[in-house]
Amino acid sequence: MPRLELKPCPFCEGKGVLLATEQMLPSGPNRYYAECMSCLARGPVSSTRKYAIIKWNKGRGEDA
Ligand SMILES: [Zn+2]
Repeated sequence: MPRLELKPCPFCEGKGVLLATEQMLPSGPNRYYAECMSCLARGPVSSTRKYAIIKWNKGRGEDA
């Protein structure tokens, strides 16, 4: 199974893209999104790490 990696930021081409976590409720499920450390662009929020990465990469408009 290929390892999913975050692609560089589509806005500033920065490579400092991290997978961030947020929790809407104290006891709620975690939600994940990619965030660029350079321009603070955020990717789509997803309920899993995997889809947060996939959605971010798709946001670039390129084939994965
Ligand atoms: Zn950026």
